[in-house]
Amino acid sequence: MLRSTKIVATLGPASSDPAILERMIRAGIDVVRLNFSHGTAQDHQKRAALVKELSAKAGRTVAIMCDLQGPKIRVGKFKEGKINLEKGQPFILDAGVELGDGQRSSLDYKELPRDVDAGALLLLDDGKIVLEVTAVRGEEVHTVVRHGGVLSNNKGINRQGGGLTAPALTSKDMEDIKTAAGIQADYLAVSFPKTGADMYMARELMRAAGGKAFLIAKIERAEAVGESALLDIMRGSDGIMVARGDLAVEVGDAAVPALQKKMIRLAREQNKLTITATQMMESMISSPVPTRAEVSDVANAVLDGTDAVMLSAETASGKYPVEVIEAMDRICREVEQTQPLSLDQEFLNRVFTRVDQSIAMAALFTAYHLKVKAIASLTESGSTALWMSRLNSGVPIYALTSQTATRYRLALFRDVFPLMVKYVGHDREELLREAEKVLVQSKVVKAGDIIVLTIGEPIGKSGGTNTMKIVKVGEELKS
Ligand code: PGA
Ligand code: MN
Repeated sequence: MLRSTKIVATLGPASSDPAILERMIRAGIDVVRLNFSHGTAQDHQKRAALVKELSAKAGRTVAIMCDLQGPKIRVGKFKEGKINLEKGQPFILDAGVELGDGQRSSLDYKELPRDVDAGALLLLDDGKIVLEVTAVRGEEVHTVVRHGGVLSNNKGINRQGGGLTAPALTSKDMEDIKTAAGIQADYLAVSFPKTGADMYMARELMRAAGGKAFLIAKIERAEAVGESALLDIMRGSDGIMVARGDLAVEVGDAAVPALQKKMIRLAREQNKLTITATQMMESMISSPVPTRAEVSDVANAVLDGTDAVMLSAETASGKYPVEVIEAMDRICREVEQTQPLSLDQEFLNRVFTRVDQSIAMAALFTAYHLKVKAIASLTESGSTALWMSRLNSGVPIYALTSQTATRYRLALFRDVFPLMVKYVGHDREELLREAEKVLVQSKVVKAGDIIVLTIGEPIGKSGGTNTMKIVKVGEELKS
């Protein structure tokens, strides 16, 4: 059985050894995430090349997602590498100092004094340390420690409730977009966007650099979670990431589970992709098995309808990079097979006016009720497969494409399995026979199976899907 939900794995030191990376890919990675918060352009180029090589060897389609660092605000470095903060002690954040000490820390964000007032709460290192602002004096932000602990170099700072004005794309991000375009990334993840305009800007820069990546907006700011903000961001994006790490710090951890459900539902309604991220299998950084809570977390994301579940430190720097993928794979499959399936009721309320979208919906409805073996969609851009995969039909969608870029992109779509098809000519019957041949050769269907096929005419034109056909595999194809 195929796994419907896809797995995104972040690469790092724990996944750099080619032998380990190959095992990870074989264990079920669908998308690798190159985290631009770490490493040089050259590191990412090398990793991307290695992924291409190893996935070809393993015969798997693995997409590449470049994740921009974004305006993550961080404390600077300390003389001793780290300090200890005691509850109740005063502490100063000051962009003017070079190296921090027990009394003050340097800061990479000059605007902080203008963005905060007395009473604001600053959460450091994902909320492990809490500072309350007592006063702003010139370039210095004076605080008192509310929750103490060890603070080491370059830890992140969030403001509870949001409200930091840093633009979504830094000059480093703009350079990194060029690197992403150069390695032909399939996806580009933008950190901390607040509006659709942030996403349009990233898209323009990506285009200007010659890249064709799909854009994923990481939802991790308090300003981004309201319904109208979300819709605005989604209009500028191909998908979103439920970026629970920073999001939990900004909106409070308890708000995140409901937000996750709302975001996934909205994204599916808007025909957008979703990735559920951060701490999904956190304990497996150092343990060979997940906790019961983690198993439930992954399972619930699958039930919410996410396209993909993501691993961060688990695969980038953890001790069990292969085992964690095996565990995720196992959990997703079991949930998918045991959940009672019904086509989302919301199906009936879908509004569509396009011919290709109408065919996609008709094919999905037919496939669901006829209980066919598979849907096969001949698609250039992948849109038909995207629309069909936004509702649970329980029928695998084989996207047959001649476009390599489309094939890789499809690796992230829930329920969609890309296959390459060569256009033998512009004759529809011939193409349908070719499609059937690819499906049989790939062992996804066999003679006698009933499948639903979608195709467009003229052949090879993007957005041209206008025909649905019900086919018994192996029979003479008649139109
Ligand atoms: P990050 O984004 O890992 O780049 O911070 C994901 C998150 O915040 O959850
Ligand atoms: Mn984040």
